[in-house]
Amino acid sequence: MGYQVDKTDDEWREQLSPEEYQVLRQAGTERPFTGEYTDTKTTGVYRCRACQAELFRSEEKFESHCGWPSFYAPLAEDRVQYIEDNSLGMTRVEVRCANCGSHLGHVFEGEGYGTPTDQRYCINSISLTLEPADEARQ
Ligand SMILES: [Zn+2]
Repeated sequence: MGYQVDKTDDEWREQLSPEEYQVLRQAGTERPFTGEYTDTKTTGVYRCRACQAELFRSEEKFESHCGWPSFYAPLAEDRVQYIEDNSLGMTRVEVRCANCGSHLGHVFEGEGYGTPTDQRYCINSISLTLEPADEARQ
């Protein structure tokens, strides 16, 4: 399975900080309530920190109080990839960037958050870079 952005492990290590590498390339999870975007309400687009692909919009971000940035839908369905994750003794759905294959987080369904999709894309802040709308217009 090929990705548009296809780098070797060494190239990723060079490009990313150790913390970014651990989450994006080794499917790690940042500690809850520590990420820089957990409570961010800035209008803008969230890009993949590894390849800059546009993944999420602030419009679909909501307050889940779970400790990680949460979205009820991706910017477009083809921006993300879903992979069954059976680690930690449970079945979860891992969310990856469809452009470079980097780990973003997990998606959960039917939790009753009252969002339009009843889904929660639970995404690591460190997997994303927020581009505020003001900057994008310049
Ligand atoms: Zn990416």
